[in-house]
Amino acid sequence: MSIQSNLNTIKATLPEHVTLVAVSKTKPVSDLMQAYEAGQRIFGENKIQEMTEKWEQMPKDIQWHMIGHVQSNKVKFMAPYVNLIHGVDSLKLLQEINKQALKNNRTIDCLLQIYIAEEESKFGLDENELNELLTSSEFKDLKNIRILGLMGMATFTEDQNQIKKEFTHLKSIFDSIKELKTENCQLNTISMGMSGDYKLAIECGSTMVRIGSNIFGGR
Ligand SMILES: *Cc1c(COP(=O)(O)O)cnc(C)c1O
Repeated sequence: MSIQSNLNTIKATLPEHVTLVAVSKTKPVSDLMQAYEAGQRIFGENKIQEMTEKWEQMPKDIQWHMIGHVQSNKVKFMAPYVNLIHGVDSLKLLQEINKQALKNNRTIDCLLQIYIAEEESKFGLDENELNELLTSSEFKDLKNIRILGLMGMATFTEDQNQIKKEFTHLKSIFDSIKELKTENCQLNTISMGMSGDYKLAIECGSTMVRIGSNIFGGR
């Protein structure tokens, strides 16, 4: 199957309110260009350096999403152009993103990553840490970031009930904070669902799916 037909097949199954992030990590620019020519404009990468190299080479109407774990000292490399950072999991990182956004005279949209899996290895905030962050005075001071919602990754398992439980948990955390409206917080996005579980994620309330291998093939 071609990248174009994979994309079209997936897009045909997505409800209108769900945004598709084409996860292109490790794939060459020529593959991304096939997706671009098929109309895809949102790409997700998990390494800042790789994303920046692709940004430099590709058309400028692409929106670049950082979906991987972000180290503070590398934020400056993507601050001029990144459209959405999915994996923000600390006030310290938000403060650095704010600082680099200010230097570039822009506002950077972010999602807060919530820890929903049973695995030890995944990053993210728990519900208490999330509430602490959103109500802190340090957070209110950040004028050059905007929180659009939450992101989560389910446990890597075949157990659909387990995955469903975790997605439902993320949706309920989102619902508990969604009325919160400050200048730097406008909550309308739940980023959950990858190639193996995006249909279930959409059933559970996802508004943004991050799909790689179903579009570009295995890595
Ligand atoms: C790689 C990755 C994806 C996409 O995974 P696929 O299974 O290839 O669809 C989604 N989200 C994150 C955070 C990733 O790192």
